Amino acid sequence: MSGALNDEELRFRDEVRDFLAHALTPELRLAGRRCSGIFTEYHDGNRWHRILAQRGWSVPHWPVEHGGTGWTPVQHHIFASELAAADAPPRAPMGPGMVAPVIIAFGTPEQQQRWLPAIRSGEDYWCQGYSEPGAGSDLASLQCRAVREGDDYVINGTKIWTTHAQYANRMFCLVRTATGGKPQAGISFLCFDMDAPGITVRPIISISGDHELNQVFFDNVRVPVSGRIGEENQGWTIAKYLLQHERGGSYAPQLRARLRRQRRAFAQANLRGAEAGDLALQLAELECAVDAMDAMDMAALRAQVRGEPRGIRPSMGKTLGTELRQRLDELAVEIAAQYAAVGLPLDDRLDGPLPLPEDAVYAMSAYLNDRAASIYAGTNEVQRNLIAAHLLAN
Ligand SMILES: Cc1cc2nc3c(=O)[nH]c(=O)nc-3n(C[C@H](O)[C@H](O)[C@H](O)COP(=O)(O)OP(=O)(O)OC[C@H]3O[C@@H](n4cnc5c(N)ncnc54)[C@H](O)[C@@H]3O)c2cc1C
Repeated sequence: MSGALNDEELRFRDEVRDFLAHALTPELRLAGRRCSGIFTEYHDGNRWHRILAQRGWSVPHWPVEHGGTGWTPVQHHIFASELAAADAPPRAPMGPGMVAPVIIAFGTPEQQQRWLPAIRSGEDYWCQGYSEPGAGSDLASLQCRAVREGDDYVINGTKIWTTHAQYANRMFCLVRTATGGKPQAGISFLCFDMDAPGITVRPIISISGDHELNQVFFDNVRVPVSGRIGEENQGWTIAKYLLQHERGGSYAPQLRARLRRQRRAFAQANLRGAEAGDLALQLAELECAVDAMDAMDMAALRAQVRGEPRGIRPSMGKTLGTELRQRLDELAVEIAAQYAAVGLPLDDRLDGPLPLPEDAVYAMSAYLNDRAASIYAGTNEVQRNLIAAHLLAN
């Protein structure tokens, strides 16, 4: 991309590079490279968020009055690309990228003051209480009840697949506050503290052996009404607004960083013959696909900075970005197979020099984790429905 940058943008890129050179410790870079899930393990991700916050760069997309940077789309793109290229640990979006835009758009000034500064600094860590055992794609059928009693709501029910609930001190949650009529019309958007009595968090271990997911149970949990964003029973519009932010964002920088590491693993294997040709072709095809994704990311960023509605872009980006990620994983496993890596212990003991390229060791874990990429944030089948409905209507 550097060929397309003007002098000012090149200066900005160098400023970001200089900052990363001293702020990103070897441990944080290691955590970034070995992150095989959606985002880094809590402690590394939060540590990195706090370092960025000190530089004023933890929430660049926010409006300037709330601590955003006011960067141009190209600057946002440079920043994301440089972070990925330097192996910065990917940060959890639930606070800065999901609930914060909701608080900014729909929260009262008091709510903005209460929650935004602690998200920006990294003091608060949020989790998302949307899905339930019987309500995933059909989210509007959710049953977790909140009944008003004076200045409190009393919550009973359960949420599932709650990523990092074991670390979060706050949750944003969709609750049923009315029954009868359209299911969407009886939902409210509540924010509350995770240490409220009656909340139990139980781990769900994923196929890769990681603990990122949980089921959360609510047993007569009292939370203040002042934590409700928007009016009672009007939470559905807010819920959909948040999902647009969850699905949005730039995909290409991370994909390019992964591709670069796989190129290295491929080169180190020093293969010959038809198999080498096939893998090289796949790498080249993926590079073209990442370039196309890059162009889409830029178009989305430009539209976002112009304040245009996000429209169907988040669904398109989510579908293409996650499926590209899965293709990269499949190729990484094929390359790893060349090293006969199967059977190596994928644990913390691998903290010294590795006998193999790092990506080959972590390829299987990334492959297994990323099976979830086409499920979370709304499955890709559902995104395709949304895209088709949009195309047919326009
Ligand atoms: C790793 C991971 C992290 C997650 N983190 C969170 C979190 O932090 N908080 C949270 O609230 N949720 C979270 N989720 C839940 C996620 O949002 C749901 O898994 C997702 O919305 C799908 O719901 P479901 O699992 O109930 O599947 P279902 O909705 O039961 O779908 C099952 C299958 O049917 C298909 N299907 C369903 N409806 C349609 C349709 N109308 N047209 C075509 N196909 C359809 C789906 O595509 C899918 O293949 C997470 C999920 C994963 C995997």
